[in-house]
Amino acid sequence: MAQHFDYIAIGGGSGGIASANRAAMHGKKVALIEAKDLGGTCVNVGCVPKKVMWYGAQVADAIKLYAQDYGFDVDLKGHSWTKLVESRQAYIGRIHQSYDRVLGNNKITVIKGFASFKDAHTVVVNGEEYTADHITIATGGEPVIPQIPGAEHGINSDGFFELTEQPKRVAVVGAGYIAVELAGVMNALGSDTHLLVRKHAPLRNFDPILTDTLVEAMATEGPKLHTQSTPKSVKKQADGSLLLTLESGEQLEVDCLIWAIGRRPLTANLNLAAAGVATDERGYIKVDEFQNTSADGVYAVGDNIGYVELTPVAVKAGRQLSERLFNGKTNAKMDYKLIPTVVFSHPPIGTLGLSEPEARAEYGDDQVKVYTSTFTSMYTAVTKHRQPCKMKLVCVGDNEKVVGVHGIGFGMDEILQGFAVAVKMGATKEDFDACVAIHPTGAEEFVTMT
Ligand code: FAD
Ligand code: NDP
Repeated sequence: MAQHFDYIAIGGGSGGIASANRAAMHGKKVALIEAKDLGGTCVNVGCVPKKVMWYGAQVADAIKLYAQDYGFDVDLKGHSWTKLVESRQAYIGRIHQSYDRVLGNNKITVIKGFASFKDAHTVVVNGEEYTADHITIATGGEPVIPQIPGAEHGINSDGFFELTEQPKRVAVVGAGYIAVELAGVMNALGSDTHLLVRKHAPLRNFDPILTDTLVEAMATEGPKLHTQSTPKSVKKQADGSLLLTLESGEQLEVDCLIWAIGRRPLTANLNLAAAGVATDERGYIKVDEFQNTSADGVYAVGDNIGYVELTPVAVKAGRQLSERLFNGKTNAKMDYKLIPTVVFSHPPIGTLGLSEPEARAEYGDDQVKVYTSTFTSMYTAVTKHRQPCKMKLVCVGDNEKVVGVHGIGFGMDEILQGFAVAVKMGATKEDFDACVAIHPTGAEEFVTMT
């Protein structure tokens, strides 16, 4: 006889765990099915290990770029990649223990294995059947690599987190969050790093103030940016190095190649057809605003729906779903508007809402007013390695409602969250101005722009 639950979450990552815990807190009998490690992409091969590496890179910058002008006579003897990875993985180990504890306290049955549907209320794992009144698919995604000769010699972001040694020369191909973040980390930690983008710039759909300033910072600090550069083939050489031939005919020799050209949903092996769950042509699960799929009692949250691929989005969507299903909040749903996000680049980027071009396209030039601020971050201003900080507010209408907040510079990763609350509440430029500045900070620029 199949074991029956009120609720099954397939995928023990950001969305699945959050939703399962919330359902259990409302007294439901819950199972969580995970094929690999609890925590999913974010904890194991995403946000968490990436942020640790980024902090490592910040320490490297502090020692190499800034310490001397702050009066420190630092003699850097070296850096142990092994030690950094060891500290990172120990931290992740503690997160796993904490997940085990919380899931245990909530009496959630954790089933290890790969789930596929038999029908809309039955899933099969390792040959065993499990049934539930409600099933949520929170299976996330995986990195893609291009279809070119020798592409398999490169690694992806998952492979980056498996590196046991720091490559001396590395090429990162891609122009999104992951490419920019990994290239920045490798560069700061001392690898000779090349970032190859196929168009004119990385993050080219972000507000131009962010894209341009990032490119400007890369020109002085690295990584070496190659624009209009697409690899045509990759060849592994006798000494183990990789020779990239670009479409332009140029060649680049590196020790490690990282593909960061995007991700695809992990939905192909779920046997979704048996459950009547429809996907789009790229495999993303089709959902309505309440995360309902085309099958009654089956829902999807997180990266596999192809909306906004961020951990807090998956978490919130999962929790809201459980509130709706199991706590009588019939209208609870994830609000996908005005989601703040940070790129852990060098310097970091924070962005929320409409870019200036998007606002002009949506509201018309005469309705848009833009405020900007450009300065050198104080942290770097007293050193030889001055780093730019640029900020922009995009406002619309007579009352100058703030519809876009964008910044790049030291501390921006921690600045945006509070301003996101204000914008979500509908703040205008006047509201920003009415707030007294905190001095001396970078954040104060957002409330003192004229
Ligand atoms: P996941 O967290 O991917 O979890 C899905 C889980 O389902 C996985 O554990 C998988 O093993 C499991 N699974 C898949 N199929 C099955 C099956 N059939 N049966 C059982 N289990 C299955 N977001 C941020 O907000 N901030 C960041 O700084 C950030 N950095 C990132 C850095 C990198 C390198 C990457 C790759 C992503 C990053 N993200 C970041 C994105 C974030 O990790 C994802 O948006 C988030 O993890 C999505 O959560 P999810 O629940 O949809 O999927
Ligand atoms: P993205 O989809 O964000 O970026 C990939 C980019 O690579 C594309 O936008 C495209 O840019 C470029 N690209 C696509 N195909 C090719 C190709 N064949 N050759 C060369 N370049 C190509 O994917 P990522 O993998 O970087 O990240 C996935 C998602 O994970 C992000 O969108 C984000 O939601 C999340 N994430 C969040 C982080 C954070 O919050 N800090 C960190 C990391 C990931 P172009 O068209 O300009 O060439």
